[in-house]
Amino acid sequence: MVATAKVIRQKYGQDVKVVFIGPCISTKDEALKFEGDAKIDSVLTFIELRQLFAEFNIRESQLEFSEFDAPLGHKGSLYPISNGFLQAVDISENLLTGSVITTEGRNNMVHAVKEFDSRIEHIRKNFNIFYDEGCLMGPGTSLSGEKFLRMTLVTDYANKRLTTFDKETWDNEIASFANLDLSRQFEPDDQRLPVPDNDKIEEVLKMINREGHMDSEVGCESCGYPNCRDLAIAISQGLATTEMCHVFSGHNRQEYIQTLRTTNENLAKTKTALKESEEKAQHEQEAQKESAEIITTMLQNLLSGVVIVDDDLKIYQSNKAFIRIVGEEAAMIDEVIPGLVGADLKSLLPVHFYKMFSYVLSSDEPIENKDVQFGEIKLGVSIFPIRSHKYVGGILRDMYVPEVRKEQIVTRLTEVIDENFDMVQKIAYLLGEGASKTEQMLNSVIDSYKNPGKS
Ligand code: SF4
Repeated sequence: MVATAKVIRQKYGQDVKVVFIGPCISTKDEALKFEGDAKIDSVLTFIELRQLFAEFNIRESQLEFSEFDAPLGHKGSLYPISNGFLQAVDISENLLTGSVITTEGRNNMVHAVKEFDSRIEHIRKNFNIFYDEGCLMGPGTSLSGEKFLRMTLVTDYANKRLTTFDKETWDNEIASFANLDLSRQFEPDDQRLPVPDNDKIEEVLKMINREGHMDSEVGCESCGYPNCRDLAIAISQGLATTEMCHVFSGHNRQEYIQTLRTTNENLAKTKTALKESEEKAQHEQEAQKESAEIITTMLQNLLSGVVIVDDDLKIYQSNKAFIRIVGEEAAMIDEVIPGLVGADLKSLLPVHFYKMFSYVLSSDEPIENKDVQFGEIKLGVSIFPIRSHKYVGGILRDMYVPEVRKEQIVTRLTEVIDENFDMVQKIAYLLGEGASKTEQMLNSVIDSYKNPGKS
């Protein structure tokens, strides 16, 4: 590639652009190392060349044939075949007299380098090594290519070109470039990574479930390494991953499938439990709704006024009797906001009255049956905490409503009997009656109030 660039520039001037087209991707990197007359302006693979042709609709059948510029490649046409490289420059591969060994392929290449390193004093040959299966199978060529068919096509082409080859003309042309400096310097660039110690290798072998394979030279090679130990070393060096071992990844896959199965089962159970709890919640919700409706109906039909307020003295719920007791203003609000929900108790009741609600809210202590004058009406008021410092309820009984009055008298008489039992006994003594008889008399007064017309 580099020699050709120099030839082109000597022939056509320094300003030409040189594009290298080939089967190899490493030339893309190599091209970056040269400047001046050796500069390669761009590198394309054959795959990219095909894409370019397709993009610009270039077809061989529609183009005129033209010959390569001289000097021709001669046996350089054999270059894509691994040992064709040697034949192109007349290096002998004779097993008895030759000095070069050619090998190709990623595994052979690694073995060759290892042997070259350890046995060179016995081998005493140069190595011509290809990572791939010769340039004709390079990664820049179509992936579907068949190696031996390509070899045949290359040798057929080389033979065809050689039939019209004029050696003398070619020698003269080549000689005109004899002045070009085609030498090349190489510096050692050791890329070897430190080999991990045995403890580390054993640790990795354990990790991939290959304990006991520390000294085994042979492996299944599915991971691309000849044995488990070599893969463990590569993993330690960060060059490979545990998943590359098919035994390990197979085992992991089984575990993964089992975990997946368990997770699915748990998911199914959770789904069923969720459905059940959803149904339960729905039933509870319906039951709550039903009981709320019952309570509201009961509340609305009570003769006593009922009001529930929050910690801001805003009405949470009230019944018709409460609205009737509070008066016209409340009735008007009720028309817009049924039940006075959200209305401010402070704007509906006088200070001394709503302060009782504030007191119960802050003290959490109930006020029971307290007489409160509210305008023309006398009310019996009980206020009690519903939720500590959050909600309180009030029951307001209009003492002038006959039913309430009766109930009130009954309550009060009962309280009097309970609280003043001693006095009842004294009254009995003064009257010359037994205490139980007096109590009986008082109870009959209570009964007459409870059931008018019976006594
Ligand atoms: S794939 Fe696993 S078992 Fe096979 S050689 Fe590599 S490390 Fe050993």
